[in-house]
Amino acid sequence: MALLPVEEARARILRDVKPLAAESIELDKALGRVLAQPVKAKRNQPPFDSSAMDGYAVVAADLAAAPVQLKVLGVSAAGRRYAGSMRSGEAVRIFTGAPVPKGADAVVIQENTLAQDPPYISVLQGVAAGQNVRRIGLDFARGESLIQPGTCLTARDIGLAAAANAAHVRVRRKPVVAILSTGDELVLPGQSPRADQIVSSNSHALAAMARRFGAEIINMGIVPDQLKATQRAIVKAAHADILLTTGGASVGDHDYVQEALVNSGVRMDFWKIAMRPGKPFMYGRRKGQHVLGLPGNPVSALVCARLFLKPLLDAMLGLPTGDDLVEARLGTAMKQNDSRQDYVRATVSEDPDGRRVATPFNRQDSSMQRTFAQSHALIVRPPHAEAAQPGELVKILRLDF
Ligand code: AMP
Ligand code: MG
Repeated sequence: MALLPVEEARARILRDVKPLAAESIELDKALGRVLAQPVKAKRNQPPFDSSAMDGYAVVAADLAAAPVQLKVLGVSAAGRRYAGSMRSGEAVRIFTGAPVPKGADAVVIQENTLAQDPPYISVLQGVAAGQNVRRIGLDFARGESLIQPGTCLTARDIGLAAAANAAHVRVRRKPVVAILSTGDELVLPGQSPRADQIVSSNSHALAAMARRFGAEIINMGIVPDQLKATQRAIVKAAHADILLTTGGASVGDHDYVQEALVNSGVRMDFWKIAMRPGKPFMYGRRKGQHVLGLPGNPVSALVCARLFLKPLLDAMLGLPTGDDLVEARLGTAMKQNDSRQDYVRATVSEDPDGRRVATPFNRQDSSMQRTFAQSHALIVRPPHAEAAQPGELVKILRLDF
């Protein structure tokens, strides 16, 4: 079977995927969640004409002939308004955030006044009408739609929603991702591996990545390379929105994942991608569940997850699914590419002219996690890309997980 191009694989995975249902959550749990319904202002902000400074509320026209004397009637403080109204020739002591009394139309800052002769003050400089006053609704007005669906909520959004008096927000439910590692050689971090064993890293990296991209995780642990055990674990994960398996995806004698998936009712769609790393990536569906069979090699597993899991999560969350590739100049020469799309680990720096430069690591073995952790980006080399010289433009995918 011919290898499937990356874009086509992605399109097949995303086919018919709809955003998940909405749920209501407390504002303090909403950081990073994706809004499903607009946040509407339940009040005006500010809710009244509000002073922007400490000083005196005045009638601006009185100050045309400054310096002038005004009679101070009382005080308007934040949370304790001055209940009366004032007229020409009068002033009210006022503080930042306090309501501007009826009759006043400006605030003169206290630095421009002298208060030597209570209850009179001298105002030394004029102000324009409206100066130092935040008009009612300056920030937003009741009923306005402040944050749009599809927004991944930031700390600033949460502040805005709180100011609008929204104690809860409606967000997309988190996609549930079950993660299953397969391999006789694997032990959990912190255990004592035998001489012929290794520590399982994939499930930890994948869980961290999926969480980072908005998912909730079910860790299904490690199963040995046995058909029945693999099948049992797959069946147990049937309630997840997405099942990720790692390892056992190739054609070795101990690779049971595909057979176990098929036996568990998964309809396989494809199982080989024209990419490097990550060729033995397979995909299928079981009822509404998406099953992503990732390769065992750690870099392959994570690159596949970035390319195929991330857009799937985005689609389920109602986010755009495109990849933002950016351009960079090559730091060192690259050979002509073969028929697979390459994702080449690279560091990114700036040259003396401030231009972005991507420099590939010499060794790109898909088992090498250290250079992966040190990489800032993957250089994307299309199938059959020509040999490239230092300084030539290439496309890169930033690594943000
Ligand atoms: P496999 O796809 O099972 O043939 O695995 C390919 C390579 O990835 C082998 O060297 C495995 O030991 C390694 N590998 C498989 N699963 C994991 C895992 N969970 N963590 C780290 N390495 C793994
Ligand atoms: Mg294996």
